[in-house]
Amino acid sequence: MGGAISDIFARAILDSRGNPTVEVDCFVDGVLTGRAAVPSGASTGTHEAVELRDGGKEWMGKGVQAAVNNVNGPIRDRIVGMDHRNQSKIDNALIELDGSPNKERLGANSTLGVSLACLRAASGGKLWKHLSTDGEISIPVPMMNILNGGAHADTNVDVQEFMVIPHGFKSFPVALRAGVETYHSLKKLLQDEKLLGGVGDEGGFAPSLPRNEEGLRLVLEAIKHAGYSPGEQISIALDVAAQEFFDGEKYHLDGMAMSGSELGRLYSTWIDSYPIVSIEDPFGEDDWDSWIEFNSREGKRIQIVGDDLYVTNPERLMRGINQAASNAILIKLNQIGTVSETLEVIKIARKAGFGTIISHRSGETSDDAISDIAVGTNAKQIKTGAPARSDRTSKYNQLIRISELVEEFSDLF
Ligand code: PGA
Ligand code: ZN
Repeated sequence: MGGAISDIFARAILDSRGNPTVEVDCFVDGVLTGRAAVPSGASTGTHEAVELRDGGKEWMGKGVQAAVNNVNGPIRDRIVGMDHRNQSKIDNALIELDGSPNKERLGANSTLGVSLACLRAASGGKLWKHLSTDGEISIPVPMMNILNGGAHADTNVDVQEFMVIPHGFKSFPVALRAGVETYHSLKKLLQDEKLLGGVGDEGGFAPSLPRNEEGLRLVLEAIKHAGYSPGEQISIALDVAAQEFFDGEKYHLDGMAMSGSELGRLYSTWIDSYPIVSIEDPFGEDDWDSWIEFNSREGKRIQIVGDDLYVTNPERLMRGINQAASNAILIKLNQIGTVSETLEVIKIARKAGFGTIISHRSGETSDDAISDIAVGTNAKQIKTGAPARSDRTSKYNQLIRISELVEEFSDLF
């Protein structure tokens, strides 16, 4: 069998928010063998790799024609003829061709599209298996975002994500069902309290609430109403995305202006009162001191996750490891822009004993590669929104399929 990439072709398709995004086809020996679509964030960290957007009037400035042209022009010229199974060689070629530290020349949306399409092409239909080089695999425990706020909803709720983690179950399908029942039970509760409005970008309900802590109360009630035991079977995780309400000095939450220490103490009272097992981005992306202080106090009690803090970047992660700024990292492929660099970051995190969570973005497509990546890298956790809307359920559904072949279910929490 051959194995040379005979063509690469990119187009603009629509994402879940109705914005254009890059989709790439990888042809091997003349046959379409791999296809991948790139997601897009809303609460993006400033240290992320650059997502190339055209600006101007068309698509409200969000066009991706330049990124598409980069794939169909210079990247195609460079990649065609290479062995599609040599991921690191392909990714190194992309990094070299871009030549910048943050993919600003080609755009991480073009490099990731190509990188992922080649990975798909090489996977032979079982991506999770292809990625599992050491044979260590497991179905990740899902972090399901059932109440949306922050940049993902047009409400007064500052905390971006209130998630449930159904960890106290023997298998993925049963855990998923428990999370889904909690989602529906939250809907009923919001209906009863006349709080039900629309949903946010990740499919979770998006009520306006008098205080952020109300979100915790509602999610806790929803777990109980669904018939599950909070803390034993289902726990709560937050993604605060605190950079969004940080002015560089104070955090503006519930009408208060708090220092990092004060905000950290507020979180501690929440951890005392609710079955919270994980908090993501509790502080701003460059407020390292607040992270370090909070992690030294609460890092034994809960998981503390860096998303905007690390942006899936090895240098920023190394700093976090050395300074003990957190104990886990969120992994988003488009924050760094190639598969190989992403796998490297996962390796560094694992070696340091950090938790690893493979994550979607708020703007998604039906591409379900992150499910396979979570299984194949044995990440143990996946964050992919509410169990509603096809852009989110595509990931959960792929995990259902994989769980027919893989029994191991994450034993975390
Ligand atoms: P984003 O949100 O994709 O809008 O950045 C997800 C997250 O913050 O984890
Ligand atoms: Zn986040």
